[in-house]
Amino acid sequence: MDKPIRVTVWNEFHDDKRWKIITDRYPGGVHAYIGHFLEQDCGFTVSVHTLDDPQQGLSDEILEQTDVLIWYSHVRDHLVEEDRIEKIISRVVQDGMGLILLHSGIFSKLGKRLIGPRGGGCYREIEELERVFVVDRSHPIADGLPEYFEFPASEMYSEPSDIPIPDELVFLSWYAGGNVGRSGYTYRRGAGKIFCFTPGHCWYDVMLYPEFHQVVSNAVRWANPVQHPAVQSRGRIEAIVPQRTRQSEPGK
Ligand code: ZN
Repeated sequence: MDKPIRVTVWNEFHDDKRWKIITDRYPGGVHAYIGHFLEQDCGFTVSVHTLDDPQQGLSDEILEQTDVLIWYSHVRDHLVEEDRIEKIISRVVQDGMGLILLHSGIFSKLGKRLIGPRGGGCYREIEELERVFVVDRSHPIADGLPEYFEFPASEMYSEPSDIPIPDELVFLSWYAGGNVGRSGYTYRRGAGKIFCFTPGHCWYDVMLYPEFHQVVSNAVRWANPVQHPAVQSRGRIEAIVPQRTRQSEPGK
């Protein structure tokens, strides 16, 4: 039997620490809620951490024991220290750790450094209907989902958005206010796979929906690193098959 995927849910833990209305919905905070359904319903091995924990919740040891990191950020992403950003990027690019950026994650300090948006997108916070369309029915992250699904009260994240063109677009959202936005998309950076999903404003009940659980759990399975030997070669290397060259045989 395959080893369970080791998932670390990392939350900035700002609004959900201050407002009971949020923890009434997401007991213990967003990280605890997401961690709970991933462990109970999906059988992943889950640990949960926040920026309040030692080393901002992500020690080197925790990161080295993580197959897929989920980062929930909203308004306090700039507090993440530079050495944590560097370590996460190294784990993704060099080692292939999967990364899932929820809600504002693409525009967080980490998202900007790793993926590269320069600014942001458009948003609106009026609890409007979001209809999420599956636009890539062959994608593993869309597995088991209907043609479209809805969050009755959502925060709008729409175009124009200056995200770098994704490698794959999986979900596109339409909002009752008339706008559209790319809402689920992937990037590859080095050995690592990255998925961004914009629904999930913690003031609303979006994360309670079974479709949200399905998307996140599918994304964990997709982003789990493939097994490959660590890259040993860097810089100038010798030929794998020995070659005769003028340099090695100057007499010829
Ligand atoms: Zn929000």
